[in-house]
Amino acid sequence: MELPILPTSVIGSYPKPRWLLRMYNLYSLGRLPEEDFREAVKDASVAVLREHERTGIDIPWDGEMGRSEMTEYFTSKIGGFRFYGPVRVWGNAYFNKAAAVSKLEYREPLVLDEFRWVKENTTREIVKVPITGPYTIAEWSFNEYYSSKEELAFELAKILNREFRLLEEEGAKFIQIDEPAMLNHPDEVPIAVEAINRAVKGVNVKFGLHVCFSNYHLLADHFDELRVSQFALEFANRKFRDMDFLRKLTHQELGFGVIDVHNPRVESPEEVARAIRKVMNYVEPERLYINPDCGLKLLDRRIAYQKLVNMVRGVEIVRKELAREGKKSIPFRRSV
Ligand SMILES: [Zn+2]
Repeated sequence: MELPILPTSVIGSYPKPRWLLRMYNLYSLGRLPEEDFREAVKDASVAVLREHERTGIDIPWDGEMGRSEMTEYFTSKIGGFRFYGPVRVWGNAYFNKAAAVSKLEYREPLVLDEFRWVKENTTREIVKVPITGPYTIAEWSFNEYYSSKEELAFELAKILNREFRLLEEEGAKFIQIDEPAMLNHPDEVPIAVEAINRAVKGVNVKFGLHVCFSNYHLLADHFDELRVSQFALEFANRKFRDMDFLRKLTHQELGFGVIDVHNPRVESPEEVARAIRKVMNYVEPERLYINPDCGLKLLDRRIAYQKLVNMVRGVEIVRKELAREGKKSIPFRRSV
C-alpha cells in the first residue's frame, strides 16, 4: 500500500457540532433516549469525517464525536472503575475522574464500534484509530485497589491489548496511542514505556504514539525501546524550536505537528511549508507524516477546518518540491 509522500492526518479530536453538545447535555439530564443519542453521535461522526476528507486529509478520523473526554470515556467502559465526581484539570475544564476500586475487567469494546462506523463511511483506505494509553488512564485515575500505579497501568495494558486484537481482526491498520501524561513523572517513564509495549504486543497493525505538553528529551531516550513505528509530537506550539532531540529518532517515523491547537490564528500554507522544510533537516521526508500538534477539539469548528485546509495546502507546496527530486510516494509501513 502506497501513500503520497508526507501523508496528512489528524491527532484525533475535533470540535463537536453545537447541536451535538446539546444532545450530550440532554442525554446527561436523562431527557434524551439512549437510542437517539447514539444516532446523533453517528450522524456527527459522518459529518466530521466528510469535513476531514474535504480538507484533503489522507488519513482521517471522526473527531471522537462519541467520546465525552479522553479518559472518562474509557474508564466508564472498563469494569472496576467508579466515579466520584468532576475534578478540575486546567482553567475551567473539568472531567469525571474515576477510581479503580476492584479488579479491572474488559466488559465491552472501547472504540471498536466507532472504528466500524468510520470504516463503513469513509472513502479513504486507511484511517487512524486514536485511543488513550494505559499510563495516562492510570495517571488520571485514583487507585484504590492495585498496590501501585505500575500494576494499574499494566492491567490497563492488558485491556487495551484485547481491544487492539479486536481492532486488527476488524481491519484496523493504524492505531495511535495517546499518552499526554507519559512524561509527567520522569522516574515513571520506564513504567509508561513498558505499559505501552505490553499493550501493543502481538498485534500486527501500525502503532503511533502521541505525546504532548511534555519535555521531549525525556521521551527521546526511549525512542528505541518503544515498539511503535511513529511518534506524533507537537512543534507549532514550540515555534519549531529545540528540535535537536529528533537526532535520536533514527528509524521510526515522525508525525510532525505543524498546527497550533491553542491559538485561533490560522497558519498560512507558506508557514506550514516552511516548518516542513525545517524538520526535513532532522528527519528525511520518507519518514514524515504531517498532522496538527494535538486534537483540535477546543477550537471553533470553522477555525479547526480552515487550519486543516491550510495544513494540506502547505503540504502540497512541499510535495511539489519533492516531486522534482522524484519523491512522490512512500509505502505504508506497519513496523519499522
Ligand atoms: Zn495531544
